[in-house]
Amino acid sequence: MADLMIHRGSSQIGGCCTQISTGESRILIDFGANLPGTDQNAGIKDSEMFQKVFGSVRKGAVLFTHYHGDHYGLFKEIPDDVPMYIGSLAKDILEILVPYMDRGAEKKGLPAVERMRTYEAGIWITPVPGIQVLPLYVDHSALDSYMFYIRVSGKSILFTGDFREHGIVGQRGRLERVLKTYVPGPVDILITEGTMLSRLGEAKNLLVKSEQELGEKAGKLFEKHKYNFVLVSSTNLDSIMEFYHNTPKNLRFVCDFYQAQVLITAMRDMERRGNFPEYRPSKKHPVVWVLGKPDSRWAKLRRIGDSMKHPLWFRSVTEEELERDGFVMLTRKNTRPEDYVSPFEKLLDKFFDRDGQIIYSMWKGYLEEEHADWQLLRFIGGRPYESLHTSGHAYVETIARLIGLVNPKIIIPMHTKSPEDFTFIPEFAPYRDRVQVLRDGIRLPL
Ligand SMILES: [Zn+2]
Repeated sequence: MADLMIHRGSSQIGGCCTQISTGESRILIDFGANLPGTDQNAGIKDSEMFQKVFGSVRKGAVLFTHYHGDHYGLFKEIPDDVPMYIGSLAKDILEILVPYMDRGAEKKGLPAVERMRTYEAGIWITPVPGIQVLPLYVDHSALDSYMFYIRVSGKSILFTGDFREHGIVGQRGRLERVLKTYVPGPVDILITEGTMLSRLGEAKNLLVKSEQELGEKAGKLFEKHKYNFVLVSSTNLDSIMEFYHNTPKNLRFVCDFYQAQVLITAMRDMERRGNFPEYRPSKKHPVVWVLGKPDSRWAKLRRIGDSMKHPLWFRSVTEEELERDGFVMLTRKNTRPEDYVSPFEKLLDKFFDRDGQIIYSMWKGYLEEEHADWQLLRFIGGRPYESLHTSGHAYVETIARLIGLVNPKIIIPMHTKSPEDFTFIPEFAPYRDRVQVLRDGIRLPL
């Protein structure tokens, strides 16, 4: 008999894995790691997940919604004979990112990434007999994120994954258009992320409501200082494009080779998809200035940049040029501070006290108690910083509109600390009777 089960993630943010089974075969949606700093106190630890999910049943297929660690992070443990699926740009980005994470790792992740198959927006796939999945392209702080519309055993399920509509992909009413085109309501079951339900205060106090607003505010901040260090996730591409386009003409836009690879890979993909002018090169900045000396690896970077309809050039930049002209630089924490001092740390030490500033563009939780990231704090080093960040997740009003559009018979919240709060939120009042909290490990017959 067909059923649905959340292995993990019904009442926590991150570490997600959801199973839909026909009794004969199954799909797993995401196989994520617990959020940094939470594994020790988690109900189910990462080390227990393999046994839980693959211990007695090895068959099935895994579909990743996007490339955030809390959704794909345990991918290396997935048995070789279990097919994995992900979006094509998400796969390209993991092929750049994972080799960096593999440095010093005992088990390398790149072979598993190379094994991943890709799905396409709006094209049905049948990963296992009896379960059809339609990937739907959605906005999120990871580019190339998907919702899944699933048919199994005569039932329809909409699985949102992480989503929002206040980024670049969500502009011009994309969410509504996609749902109206592909999801004939009413759906039997809606499984929706509810990250912001447990961060309501944060949503209310957010200084920046959308990526566009983030760009405008960034532009004003950049005008005040000569040396701008932006701390942003290397794969939060919407924000990165906003920082790029809002870099004043007189400053250089700077990143390192790794970040340049991620950037150009995303821009090429968005050029192919069309209709995303925010992902085109800026006339103000046709050159991205890259730290370090060019080596053989730069050829690929330049080949992609040259081949685009709207080309983007990459040139190496010297410390003297940085000093003379000023910059907006995309930076990252040093993940191996015991081994070396990163170029970003050196430049921060040199320029911060001479008209420099740090723009912190990540979730504020990474600087606080439970989720405190010591490498990030170490990088900031007690210096003052400007916060400039917008949420990667749907606001309450977005979730309410989604519910209105697909009119589900059952609503199952997940990816939230407080699924039971769903019924207390005024925007969801009309749907109160449809909410069903499904705890980790409980099977819901379909
Ligand atoms: Zn995510």
